[in-house]
Amino acid sequence: MGATRSYRFRKYHVATAIDSLTLPTFEAVCVSGEERDCGATSGELHTPEELTRWIAGHCAQTGHQSYEQTTRTIVRAEPGAWQ
Ligand SMILES: [Zn+2]
Repeated sequence: MGATRSYRFRKYHVATAIDSLTLPTFEAVCVSGEERDCGATSGELHTPEELTRWIAGHCAQTGHQSYEQTTRTIVRAEPGAWQ
């Protein structure tokens, strides 16, 4: 009881360079609204310009002005050697 167990974890080197084949995707969610968020979502878009256009369009239709924007990128983890 109370003994400290040690575990060995495989160490990963996470590449910081973005693979050119995996382009980032952009998404916006409308968080406007008083009692609850509007929740309208742009879906996955591939350029910031498309995202801006979606926001501009939604804003023009609804007058909503608050959006949560996310950018997703894929990074590749490469298994390293056991310590
Ligand atoms: Zn909205």
